Amino acid sequence: MPGQAEAPTGAVGGAVPDPGAMVPAPFTLSAKRQDTTDTWTLELEPRGGERLTFAPGQFTMLSMFGTGEVPISISGGGGGEAGEGPLVHTVRAVGLATRAICDAPVGAALGVRGPFGRAWPVHELEGADVLVIAGGIGLAPLRPAIRALLARRERYGRLLLLYGGRSPEQLLYPGELERWAARGLDVAITVDSAGPAWLGHVGVVPQLVHRARFDAARAVALLCGPEVMMRFTFSALARAGVGSDRVYASMERNMQCGIGHCGHCQLGPTLVCRDGPVYRWSELEPWLAIREL
Ligand SMILES: Cc1cc2nc3c(=O)[nH]c(=O)nc-3n(C[C@H](O)[C@H](O)[C@H](O)COP(=O)(O)OP(=O)(O)OC[C@H]3O[C@@H](n4cnc5c(N)ncnc54)[C@H](O)[C@@H]3O)c2cc1C
Repeated sequence: MPGQAEAPTGAVGGAVPDPGAMVPAPFTLSAKRQDTTDTWTLELEPRGGERLTFAPGQFTMLSMFGTGEVPISISGGGGGEAGEGPLVHTVRAVGLATRAICDAPVGAALGVRGPFGRAWPVHELEGADVLVIAGGIGLAPLRPAIRALLARRERYGRLLLLYGGRSPEQLLYPGELERWAARGLDVAITVDSAGPAWLGHVGVVPQLVHRARFDAARAVALLCGPEVMMRFTFSALARAGVGSDRVYASMERNMQCGIGHCGHCQLGPTLVCRDGPVYRWSELEPWLAIREL
């Protein structure tokens, strides 16, 4: 795939997968923090071996033993240039597996496979104005990308974060949003609804695109959020003059093996676990035009 990140660790790119990639490694839940009513950020340390290295945008298959396994993006830490320290995941409890993971006590053992999938093309964005656009929990997979961009701030043009949440209380990483702004990220936030204490923008994320100042001719956008939000945001970007070959999106599909074997996460002719989750919008366009694909 032109312009995509290098072949990721653990993903197979058409080759025969390493059977070891199906065996979860035991990690200890070393710390947890409640972010919102239904979302927790978890820190994990390997129970042997080295910390995982990963590229921003990659995910792991995370499990609480006995309750199932789910794909969760890596939101920080690890042992490579994308971060240091414990492996970090931000998890929204929506069902059996995610609820069990979020309920796990500090000290519990969790299973981790990966990292898998294609990354955000952070290194290919030098010289560009970069719009990082997130809805809800979609900020978690973009957090390592923001950190990588800010670590080399001088190599990029304008850096913007356009971030939408359901309400002010549901916004992730509030302290970090302030620190990122102080380091040269233009942060624009909107919420679906808010009480009178909220003095910020109320509305949907695509409206932030219309208000943002960037050079469309050299802009690249990284999108992650509910699919409907990404579709409308892409339309707003297209109207602003950002072409579909300069928009990247992280896609979600029901995923089981994570290594391109089972076929559950098929999207058009691709498998999200192996060929995504990060795609160029120009690749997605033909498939997104098909209802419920
Ligand atoms: C590549 C990738 C990266 C992901 N990264 C993250 C992440 O960083 N953090 C995170 O919290 N989640 C992430 N997800 C979503 C996560 O995998 C799902 O929420 C999880 O699989 C749900 O499993 P469950 O057993 O808890 O819920 P299930 O029992 O499978 O579902 C319970 C209910 O929740 C609904 N549901 C399922 N998935 C979602 C969803 N994504 N959003 C809203 N409702 C849902 C179902 O329709 C059902 O009604 C990611 C998914 C993919 C494919």
